[in-house]
Amino acid sequence: MAAALPALERAAQGAKVGAVLDFLRRSPTKLLIDGKWTAAKSGKTFETINPANEEVLALVAEGDKADVDEAVVAARRAFEEGRWRTITPHQRGRYLLRIAELIDKYADELAELESLDNGKPVAQARTIDIAGAAGIFRYFAGWPSKIYGETNPSDPGMFNYTLREPIGVCGLIIPWNFPLMMAVTKIAPALACGNTMILKPAEQTPLTAIRLGELLQEAGIPDGVVNIITGFGPGAGSAIAEHPGIDKVAFTGSTEVGKLILQASAGNLKRVSLELGGKSPNIVFPDADLASAVKNAMTGVFYNSGQVCAAGTRIFVQRDIYDNFVADLTAASERMTPGNPLDPQTRLGPVVSREQFDRVLGYVTAGRHEGARVTIGGEAVGGKGYYVKPTIFADVRNDMKIAQEEIFGPVAAAIPFKDEDDAVLQGNATTYGLAAAVWSRDIRRAHRVARALKAGTVWVNCYGVTDTAMPFGGYKQSGFGREGSRHVIDLFTQIKSVYVKL
Ligand code: ADP
Repeated sequence: MAAALPALERAAQGAKVGAVLDFLRRSPTKLLIDGKWTAAKSGKTFETINPANEEVLALVAEGDKADVDEAVVAARRAFEEGRWRTITPHQRGRYLLRIAELIDKYADELAELESLDNGKPVAQARTIDIAGAAGIFRYFAGWPSKIYGETNPSDPGMFNYTLREPIGVCGLIIPWNFPLMMAVTKIAPALACGNTMILKPAEQTPLTAIRLGELLQEAGIPDGVVNIITGFGPGAGSAIAEHPGIDKVAFTGSTEVGKLILQASAGNLKRVSLELGGKSPNIVFPDADLASAVKNAMTGVFYNSGQVCAAGTRIFVQRDIYDNFVADLTAASERMTPGNPLDPQTRLGPVVSREQFDRVLGYVTAGRHEGARVTIGGEAVGGKGYYVKPTIFADVRNDMKIAQEEIFGPVAAAIPFKDEDDAVLQGNATTYGLAAAVWSRDIRRAHRVARALKAGTVWVNCYGVTDTAMPFGGYKQSGFGREGSRHVIDLFTQIKSVYVKL
């Protein structure tokens, strides 16, 4: 019966929100430059695929350097003319609140669109991604009126003060794992600080960013303040990273591409902040609440099909409890069966793309070759869609490929450790340093280990908790700069010192 449906209805089969189909029917979608939706100069488009059924959801404009050039001109003009930065802080805050309200208003539509484009369960998209995106705008709506400088009394003959000013034109390059939330994590603080910007969503998941562009217009954000260029990394992304007219790049994605961004920034010494990959250790001591540790180890690695930069992919368990813990984790994971993301009961969807599917299964093969033991999963579900069964490897050594490289799929490596020192040593034996967790009822040990772990975030007796009011970012090759909290204000502002002779 499905074959009888027109292509779009087939691709979006199961969608319940009429507005989603209306949005998809507008395909090919366009670029947002200077407040106008325009086709790419090259006329090119690319397909965005529903990972649950491998059907084409929409054709999307393929922006490249020529389009980025035009967007930079628009963003520069909007910045220099003061279309945004000179609006009073209170008014800017009200704009951000209005965007939050619009995200709430269209939340069901955005959640379904996100689920279709990314493959994540619609219930999670609704409660985490979309509600989270509105919450981020609300948090940053409070900031414009609280960004101010300092006075310095060191010389009585002078009046010395600082001004905290926006940086200018920002390039925001984001990945596909939390498409709307990643966009908002960068747009909201960039706007709060008075910047103008060019957003490049990931080519796998451009749809909610495009819809957000429409909502920004509905909220009345002036033309040219937020420009959106859909396209590929090497075309649109690298043009942003290299552009002499862009003052700052905020990037979230792979460590490999993060290094390219940093190199490309050298041309005009643009400011760079990088939120990159991880291989986070989740360390379980025998004195922990083990039932809770099992549950959180499971969601900590399988949430969003493991496509989370801070996923707890290396589960370290003290040797005495290792076998029992792995057995319990395996049993708990049996309930994590992948299903149709549009079904409200589904907790695990497909991975985002064919490329990611092949990559994840390649790591599963590598794990087997290296001698690790699969306790559950270890294969694709089969049939249509990029579904990978949740997979746990036991008897993993920390120097194996599956324990060192970021897989970005539902694959866990369970590794035994001897004692506290060994746990910390192995936990830190990685090039990454994004996040870590420790499970113990011994308060002294928990804090000792939290201090010893080289990671930008450490969870104690929980996993994956985030809060926009807390800084998030990496140690080591997980990047630099902190998003969220007052620390991100530093990333999107610069300080001017003013000396006045009295
Ligand atoms: P992932 O491995 O999660 O797909 P990537 O780092 O490849 O992450 O991609 C994250 C974002 O970076 C995407 O928007 C992608 O298009 C973009 N990107 C990829 N390559 C480059 C590049 N060379 N320069 C700038 N952006 C890039």
